[in-house]
Amino acid sequence: MKLIRKGEVGEERPGLLLPDGREVDVSDFGEDYDEVFFETDGMARLEEWAATHASNSPDFPEELRQGSPIARPSKIVCIGLNYKDHAEESGVEIPEEPVIFFKATSAFCGPNDDLIIPRNSEKTDWEVELAFVMGKRASYVEEENALASLAGYVLHNDYSEREFQIERCGQWVKGKSCDSFAPVGPWLVTPDELGNVDDLGMWLKVNGETVQQSNTSNLVYKIPFLISYVSQFMTLLPGDVVSTGTPPGVGLGMDSPRYLKPGDVVELGIDGLGSSSQTAIAAK
Ligand code: ZN
Repeated sequence: MKLIRKGEVGEERPGLLLPDGREVDVSDFGEDYDEVFFETDGMARLEEWAATHASNSPDFPEELRQGSPIARPSKIVCIGLNYKDHAEESGVEIPEEPVIFFKATSAFCGPNDDLIIPRNSEKTDWEVELAFVMGKRASYVEEENALASLAGYVLHNDYSEREFQIERCGQWVKGKSCDSFAPVGPWLVTPDELGNVDDLGMWLKVNGETVQQSNTSNLVYKIPFLISYVSQFMTLLPGDVVSTGTPPGVGLGMDSPRYLKPGDVVELGIDGLGSSSQTAIAAK
């Protein structure tokens, strides 16, 4: 299945992207894709409901805004420096165990929403990332059982303000949490439909120029390990998002670092997860 949500901010309705390409409104299913939905085995119930109802469901108007494919989660957990060559371009060693940081959930937004460059920002940067969404509560999960707690995968751009992140005392969270810094989607795809998650091409373009191009096969720490690892430090709740890190090609890593300004257009995609596009605007 591919889950989508469409509608204005705060008014998104649940939907499905069908194999024939139709985007259908499944409001009749009666639930949003939120923590309660995932916790109560909503993916299985939705699949059963969809088998008889999805093809008869009404099409969404095409021009309707694409929302994030799930409701705002309780947590957005990010893994830092999970591609060897990105660690090198950032001038740091691969850590002995994963770096974990948070993004504020208020940064969560639709895949094609405008990127708001924060006030006083000169170093707003991009990061194409594979992220996964939890389908079940996970606490002290064993690596071999970890994938059973997964709902599916999403495309994520982990926008980062490098001055706020690195030059402003400690904690990366300041540079990761600005409004619109976590565009997610267009869809959540279930593992059965995605195929091999460890071999997905990924790319990001700025104003049409390819700056990031890699493959999920380059991840240092793989997904079952990451679920198990994060669950040693916190309980992952159903619907939580974990973003697995970015490959090389971010603005910070360029010979002459390059950052985003109003009017710039960022496009990104991962095989099987679709693509998204954000236009940079100045904060009001
Ligand atoms: Zn990142």
